[in-house]
Amino acid sequence: MNTGRSEELYRRAVEHIPGGVNSPVRAFRSVGRTPLFIDRAKGSRIYDADGNEFIDYVSSWGPAILGHAREEVTEAVIKACEKGLTYGAPTEKEIILAEIISEMMPSMEMTRLLSSGTEAVMSAIRVARGFTGRDMIIKFRGCYHGHSDGLLVKAGSAALTTAVPDSAGVPAGFTQTTLVAEYNDATSVENLFAQYGAQIAAVIVEPVAANMGVVLPKDGFLPFLRKITRDNGALLIFDEVITGFRLLPGGASEYFQISPDLITLGKIIGGGMPIGAYGGRRDIMEKVSPLGNVYQAGTLSGNPVATTAGITTLNILRNSPGIYEELEQKAKQLANTLRQVSKGRVWVNQIGSLLSPFFTGIPVTTYDDVMTSDTREYASYFNYLLERGIYIAPAQFEAMFISDAHSEEDISMTCKVIEEYFNR
Ligand code: PMP
Repeated sequence: MNTGRSEELYRRAVEHIPGGVNSPVRAFRSVGRTPLFIDRAKGSRIYDADGNEFIDYVSSWGPAILGHAREEVTEAVIKACEKGLTYGAPTEKEIILAEIISEMMPSMEMTRLLSSGTEAVMSAIRVARGFTGRDMIIKFRGCYHGHSDGLLVKAGSAALTTAVPDSAGVPAGFTQTTLVAEYNDATSVENLFAQYGAQIAAVIVEPVAANMGVVLPKDGFLPFLRKITRDNGALLIFDEVITGFRLLPGGASEYFQISPDLITLGKIIGGGMPIGAYGGRRDIMEKVSPLGNVYQAGTLSGNPVATTAGITTLNILRNSPGIYEELEQKAKQLANTLRQVSKGRVWVNQIGSLLSPFFTGIPVTTYDDVMTSDTREYASYFNYLLERGIYIAPAQFEAMFISDAHSEEDISMTCKVIEEYFNR
């Protein structure tokens, strides 16, 4: 595989961009090679600056559920661009997007649009605090909710309640109101409620964890979170930035039949353009400025081009009967192949069109299980696939995203390469 042009671009990039990238995972650090610089993408394929073609399972980390540059979406976007890129004033498009979201996801009685998932979560937590008049939140180890200060924490292994910032530049004081529990461990949540109950504004969770690789909620875990929050006057926030409109039209809330109080969204609702959203119960969202006293704003919020891409994408999803079943079928085929050909070297979690192979011999249901994965072996698997035209996440603790554009042929070619890797 010729990577001369990517190498050249990387040398240029590092001069003016930290690490040469605008988001750390793109640097390919954990797979030990120079990042590929992308030139274009179409359907299931992505092409780098050297002209190499790959079947893409990163799907821009989720938004590209219809594949890349789907005609209806790009045509609508081009038309929208001709009408001006941003006005900083209300438009009908925002209403249409909020209406579609609320039809597909009934828990979203009201929606506020913004420009990223990070902003969505940061704002949802602010309104949860404003509404309850409480300061503390519970998050789960291994769940990612964007890079706002208070959420960049995981538990110190000794004491779950002492949240230590993961990043330099986050004052310890900023994370003192963040409590960390264990995903899929009800006791860890009960203990925090026993100690801090009346101070807890919200529990935030990725209903299906997808940022430590894909980890499914155990039976009863999400209903338990629904009950314990309600019993304690705290709110339940589902971070559906990944699962929203991906698992089902109504996301994880529909899949698991749970109504959270607030939901955060991103990725798919922008159809590939920068977007985020948070929303949920009307009485809570009425606290948001200018109705209420929880301040939150944005110059590009509800951007006409992003909302156009989002509306078109969601309309295609909801008007394509069987699309979610087809997406899942493809993911199942990959998951089953991985299980069969890896002969116990890999544990695979799959749900809907999300899956992750973990290079470990044990079942993966917790963060500790995840951490038994052999990241060096993942790196060698990644490089083997890449050299053969298959682009998966350049890090073990991420998901594979299946899109509508992945053809049967794409999936069987991928299965063949996976089989070759394990039979080497
Ligand atoms: N929440 C979840 C569950 C995410 O996966 C992500 C990003 N991958 C975010 C929040 C942050 O979104 P963004 O990168 O758009 O800020």
